[in-house]
Amino acid sequence: MDDPARDPERREPDQRDLRLRDVVAALESLYPLESAADWDRVGLVTGEPDQPVRRILFALDPTLAVIDEAREWGADLLVTHHPLLLRGVHSVATTSAKGASVTALVRAGVALWVGHTNADVADPGVSTVLADALGLTDQRPLSRDGGNAGRVGELAEPVSLADFADVVSAALPATAGGIRVSGDPDATVRTVAVMGGSGDDRFDDVRAHGADVYVTADLRHHPVLEAREEARGGPPYLVDAGHWATESLWLESGRQRLLGALGHRAAAARVETRVSAIRTEPWTFVVGANAARPAPAVPPTGGVS
Ligand SMILES: [Zn+2]
Repeated sequence: MDDPARDPERREPDQRDLRLRDVVAALESLYPLESAADWDRVGLVTGEPDQPVRRILFALDPTLAVIDEAREWGADLLVTHHPLLLRGVHSVATTSAKGASVTALVRAGVALWVGHTNADVADPGVSTVLADALGLTDQRPLSRDGGNAGRVGELAEPVSLADFADVVSAALPATAGGIRVSGDPDATVRTVAVMGGSGDDRFDDVRAHGADVYVTADLRHHPVLEAREEARGGPPYLVDAGHWATESLWLESGRQRLLGALGHRAAAARVETRVSAIRTEPWTFVVGANAARPAPAVPPTGGVS
C-alpha cells in the first residue's frame, strides 16, 4: 500500500530490485533462525516476500519512533534485534502500542525482520562485537550450555578496574544511565567476560572461566549482591554498561555483514542501508550518581617526590 509519508521521488520498480525474500535469505544465512532460543520469536514479522527492497534500516528496538523513522526515510525493511511480538497477541488494533506498531508497518509497507538470540550466538554476533570493541583477544564462548552465548577474552595487559571501566565507557555509546561498577577501583583485571543485554543468569559461567570482571547489563540487586558475597569482595567484579549500549554496537556489524552477504546484488540494486540514530534505551536522565561513592585513597602527605 502506498503511504503519503513515503518519498515521492522514489523510482519505479526495477528488474534489478532485490526482493524481500532475497534479503531475508541473506539475513538468515548470517543469523539462522534455528539457532534462536526456544522461547524466542525471530525472523520475518511483517512484509510480503515479493516486495522490492531498496532501503534497509537497522535499529535495536522496533519502537513507534523507529517505525516513524523507517516510514519517513522510505525504508522497505526494518531489521531489529529485539522482537516486536514476543508474547501472544489477540489484537493489532491501534489502541495498544504493539497494535499501532504493526498497523504502521503494514500500512507503510515496511517489512520487519528480527534477529535476537540468533544474533546473540552468532560469530560475529552481539557479544563478539562487544568483545572486539573492548579489545579482547583469545576469545572463547562464555556459556557452557552449548548456546555459545557471551564471550570471554583477555585484555592486552592488566589494568585497574577503574581504568577498565573507562575503556568500557569509551568503547560504548553514551547513555543516560552511565556505567555502574561493583568492585575495588584499584583491583587488577585482565580476563574479561562479556554478554550483551541481560546477563545476570550467567554468573556461574563467569566464575567457571575465572574471569576477573564481567560486562553485561540489567544487573539486579539480589543476583549482584549474592554474586559479590560469593566473591568475598574479590573477582569477578561486575560492570553494568546498559542493555541498549552493550547491544547497539552489533547494528553496524549486522549492516555490513548483510551487504557482504548480498554482494554484488546489493550494489546492482542500489540498496541503501543505515543504522537508526534513535537511542531506544528507555532511561532519560539520572540524579545523585556517585553520591555514595567511596572516597579515593588519600596519598600520604608530607613527602616530596
Ligand atoms: Zn537485548
